[in-house]
Amino acid sequence: MHPSAKMPKQRMRPRMGRWLIWAFVVALFCGVVDFGAPFEGALRTTRNKLIRHPVSGEVVVVGIDSASVHKYGDWPWRYGLHAEMVNKLHKMGAKQIGLDFYLTGAGTRSEERALAGALELARGKVYIGTQRHFDRHSDKTTIIEPRPAFAARANLASVDYSANAFGQVWRLPYAVEAEGVSRMSFASILGGRAGIAGESFPVDYSLDLKSIKTISAKDLLEGKVSPEAIRGRKVMVGVVWDALEDVHALPGFGSIPGVYFHVMGAETLLSGRPVEFGWFFVLLVTTAVGVFAKNAPSRFLGRAALAATFSALIGLPIFLEAHLIFVNVVPSLLLLAIVGIGRIRARLRNTDVSTDLVSGYDNFSALRQVSVEQGDIVVVAKIKRFPALAASMTPEYITELARLVRSRLSLGTGLQYLFHGENGTFGWVVPAEMAWALSDQLGALHALFNNGLPLNGHPIDLSVCFGVDSTAGRTISSRVDSALAAADQADESNMRWVGYDPVTPEDAEWQRSLLSQLNDGMTNGQVWIAYQPKLDLRTGKVTGAEALIRWTHPTKGEICPVEIIAACEQHDKISGLTHFVLKSAIRCASELQAKGIQFNIAVNLSPRMLDERDLVERLRELLLQHQLPAQRLTLEITETAELRNKTSAITMLKAIRLMGVSVSIDDYGTGLATLEYLQLLPVNEIKIDRKFINGMLEEQNCAVMVNSTIQLAHSLNCKVVAEGVESEATLDMLRSFKCDTVQGYLIGRPMTYSAIQSFIADQKSRAA
Ligand code: C2E
Ligand code: CA
Ligand code: CA
Repeated sequence: MHPSAKMPKQRMRPRMGRWLIWAFVVALFCGVVDFGAPFEGALRTTRNKLIRHPVSGEVVVVGIDSASVHKYGDWPWRYGLHAEMVNKLHKMGAKQIGLDFYLTGAGTRSEERALAGALELARGKVYIGTQRHFDRHSDKTTIIEPRPAFAARANLASVDYSANAFGQVWRLPYAVEAEGVSRMSFASILGGRAGIAGESFPVDYSLDLKSIKTISAKDLLEGKVSPEAIRGRKVMVGVVWDALEDVHALPGFGSIPGVYFHVMGAETLLSGRPVEFGWFFVLLVTTAVGVFAKNAPSRFLGRAALAATFSALIGLPIFLEAHLIFVNVVPSLLLLAIVGIGRIRARLRNTDVSTDLVSGYDNFSALRQVSVEQGDIVVVAKIKRFPALAASMTPEYITELARLVRSRLSLGTGLQYLFHGENGTFGWVVPAEMAWALSDQLGALHALFNNGLPLNGHPIDLSVCFGVDSTAGRTISSRVDSALAAADQADESNMRWVGYDPVTPEDAEWQRSLLSQLNDGMTNGQVWIAYQPKLDLRTGKVTGAEALIRWTHPTKGEICPVEIIAACEQHDKISGLTHFVLKSAIRCASELQAKGIQFNIAVNLSPRMLDERDLVERLRELLLQHQLPAQRLTLEITETAELRNKTSAITMLKAIRLMGVSVSIDDYGTGLATLEYLQLLPVNEIKIDRKFINGMLEEQNCAVMVNSTIQLAHSLNCKVVAEGVESEATLDMLRSFKCDTVQGYLIGRPMTYSAIQSFIADQKSRAA
């Protein structure tokens, strides 16, 4: 077996979801207490109407109706009349004769003899009704039975049945227990199917009650009935005048005399033996679908599964009941309703944070909740230059793109559980037992993407790179972060994939010693500020510079600024460093100002610094001390999740803007920020990341992204700085896009203060 054909662990541990658990508990309760009976009944009655069909006609009713009573006297009748009816029915060839009354009362000797004779003559064809009677006073059950003279010459049958809490009769017994013996019901006898005492069956009320043939007892006694109507049939004699008989609710037909219940039951059994699946089995199946929907690879698939189940619960019983298979669906429908409400609620409140809002796929919040085991590997795939791609696409295209990438990743990994991150990232967990194949797999995926993707008919070139975290003993959330960082590193260094490298103990040691030396460095001149010129494209003049930290270490040489900043941020030393840079930069700008040069200075501000309560105060003091107008200072901030999630940070930015200091979003395009989002931030400049500027000449997507960013930023009243300009061609393009300011090696590398002074002086003399 190909190792990747194996399901990832998340699949083996599907998540139930809070709503689903609640729905199951409520549905279970509903099933146990039969709280859904009226709904179940209403649904079944509706279905019955759809498949209504006539009875077999094997059983006919001889009814004691109003005409019979008017002609032959009040009910109960004299035994002579019963004897006459039995004789007639027997002679006409009835197969079985059921008498739906008890024959308990006294009569004249001769009449009693006449009936006993008739029963004798019918030779066991006749069944007389008996009923259990519960006496509340004596707390005893007695059986109402015919007089011994009759009982000895005929069979006995039970007329017992009971209505549910809503007065409806849905079921009939096969047999009941009477004084230690099992006595078959009329339905069971006439229907020809037996069951044990106490066992009951659901009556098929899709049979048409009106198709039961009823003959008036009067017509029978008067000899007006043709023998054809009786011959070979089973006959049930009973009262059909509702003024005389207890009536009960026969679902779908209203209140009906008791004799018809027996006939409906008999006709049910004549067409087969009903099978019942009840509610619990159905509920289990529905719950399983619910679990599937919750864990489905896409929201669409989940919804489709739920909708299909709903339709099946409504429609399938119609076909089942036509074959006498009965299921109860209300607890399951209740479960679906609760799950549906849960989903709608989540959607309305937009709190379904574990799915991506655009694509509907599970996002990284969900990935961060997956349970991982020792040896499992976290992988993040990153679509290169995704922000530039996305900037040139409509949301529908982006969704389609995400879908295509996803299906291709699924294809390549054999995994269904992919999580959709922001900015064109996808993540998944590779189970430990598949780890050995990972390198090959990533290579294959990389190649798979090189073939281009057919996006709505147009092939687009995409390339992906991967970040891999295989560290042990860390939370899944920090492992996702590491894999993301590794993917970024792979992207920057043009590698197919990069494994996250946790800081080794030596690294940590070096960081600590680096920090302890940094303070000294700041006082003894090892740490200094480099200034990189910024060119104003409108005036064609260098009007400012970005201040960048430099550390010339006596033994280690130039130390990478990114490393210094990372160490400072990790060990809460960034504030001291930033104030050092601010002080130096503001001093230099004010010196130039004193020489009559209007010089704008930009300083990088770590987003963490926005937590500092006295930041605004300290800035104000510094500016005042060096007599530099606030308008000359710009703070460059990279948009991060930290900034995004803190309202206090935004308040701080507002206070900074209020002072007159400019705020610029650094590395625009690499972070999470979109222009719509930036609108909410108090910024007045956007600095497009050098990756996009560098890519502009070769990649059309980059050019489109830069161009559209400039236009949009202008419409939001923001200035745009392009960083990393290295060629004239790039500069020309930026000029045509109406970019405001450029920075990069083409204009000038970061340089010492004295170097930038002469740089500006040269420019002046050139202009003169
Ligand atoms: P950044 O803010 O994006 O700074 C621009 C970086 O791009 C600088 O790298 C600069 O040398 C480099 N660069 C400028 N023009 C070009 C070009 O044409 N081509 C290329 N390939 N690169 C160019 P540097 O000085 O290594 O700084 C790296 C990062 O360190 C900065 O990126 C910034 O995030 C951080 N940093 C530097 N100084 C400070 C500071 O004082 N405070 C804070 N918080 N961060 C700082
Ligand atoms: Ca910067
Ligand atoms: Ca930058």
